[in-house]
Amino acid sequence: MSEQSVFQVALNTLNEAGRLGNIDPGVMTILQAPKRIFHFRIPIKLDNGTVQVFQAYRVHYSDAVGPFRNGTRIRPKLSLDEVQALGIFMTIKHCVGGIPAGGAKGGIRADLSTLSIGEQERLVRAFIRNLHPKGPWADVPGADIGTGEQAMAWMLDEYEQITGEHCPAAINDKPPVLGGTLGGEEATGRGVFIVLQAAAKDFGIDLAGAEIAVQGFGQVGSVAASLLHGIGCRVVAVSDVNGGVYNKSGLDIPALKLHLAATGTVLDFPGAKNITNEELLTTPVDILVPAAVQNVINADNAAEIKARLIVEGANGPVTTEADAILMAKGIKLVPDVVANSGGAIVCHFERTQGLSDEYWDLERVNASLNKRIMAAYTNSRDRAAAVGTASIRIGAWIEALKKIELAMKLRGWV
Ligand code: NAD
Repeated sequence: MSEQSVFQVALNTLNEAGRLGNIDPGVMTILQAPKRIFHFRIPIKLDNGTVQVFQAYRVHYSDAVGPFRNGTRIRPKLSLDEVQALGIFMTIKHCVGGIPAGGAKGGIRADLSTLSIGEQERLVRAFIRNLHPKGPWADVPGADIGTGEQAMAWMLDEYEQITGEHCPAAINDKPPVLGGTLGGEEATGRGVFIVLQAAAKDFGIDLAGAEIAVQGFGQVGSVAASLLHGIGCRVVAVSDVNGGVYNKSGLDIPALKLHLAATGTVLDFPGAKNITNEELLTTPVDILVPAAVQNVINADNAAEIKARLIVEGANGPVTTEADAILMAKGIKLVPDVVANSGGAIVCHFERTQGLSDEYWDLERVNASLNKRIMAAYTNSRDRAAAVGTASIRIGAWIEALKKIELAMKLRGWV
């Protein structure tokens, strides 16, 4: 995989969108770096009595249109570069989704597989104690890789223990029984599914006969693959970190989920051929959904991509060089800030429910998600057309930058 800085990739997009969208130079200067970055080291007493110190970050990228919100990533190789990139992606994603929120991201560099549940709980609680977020109108941490509903429940409890009052809107992605929302866990995968259908229609790909490959079979990839399979699409290849499986007639996705639960990997699925992740990306399919990690489609493999449409489930899966190569080949692409914005959109509904103390049924959540993400997609597509580029990515970023520019002007920042 390319070692390219994912934050630099984000800045490349930012600056190209700023140029094509004729965005105020003052706005562009402000957005070259986060508003503030918290660095902290969290000491944890391990079960064996020794102390381990974990590096943690919280990046407040921009709060021009609203309070900082979302994402806490825990992984062994977490870098500040990646957290900054995720911070600007959140800033853009909220604006494209019509959400009055700023962008933030946080994280802890830790290998959860080496920590007991008790150690994980102490680590996540200590993250909140060290960050001491100031509530729903200032900074609302949410989940990302390595932080599921349990971690967010600990974060909420720690926050409420500190403040002495219940405030479900202070933390996102928590379980429904603690004031979370229905449909939250599958929101991003469902969003990918919705925009994939819209883009396929726009670009003349008949889903009935289309072959689809999905890289990553986690919270995003497995939901998108299941929903596609559910409407009769042929998902021919799926992978996880260990590698992938391929069957030209289409994989039985519900059976593959059971196989993953039983064996811990998608590999060796009966009736399918094992392939590498690299093979999955370059396999001849109509639609490719990279839903694992960043920079997987890069200058080394972009020329080999055969899909007609790419829908970015992951954040930053395509580098700047690869983007240009794909465009030159006429491959259509729905960018991350639109395609995987379902989670951010439903987090907004979660916060709205927490603040109003009135909770929605799943039908309302899904119908509202559908409406918002379709608007994000069509506005980005149309903005791209209006400025004369085939890049929906650039269209989306211009769409967001126009809102940030207006907010900064009205606030008197530029
Ligand atoms: P996850 O941890 O649930 O699943 C990740 C999947 O990718 C797993 O199947 C894992 O085995 C696989 N994987 C990990 N490293 C890989 C590698 N190097 N090559 C191939 N496969 C690899 O994570 P997720 O929540 O599904 O998130 C996936 C991507 O989507 C990330 O980029 C994340 O930032 C992005 N995203 C997630 C959400 C969300 O709501 N979960 C929202 C927006 C964006």
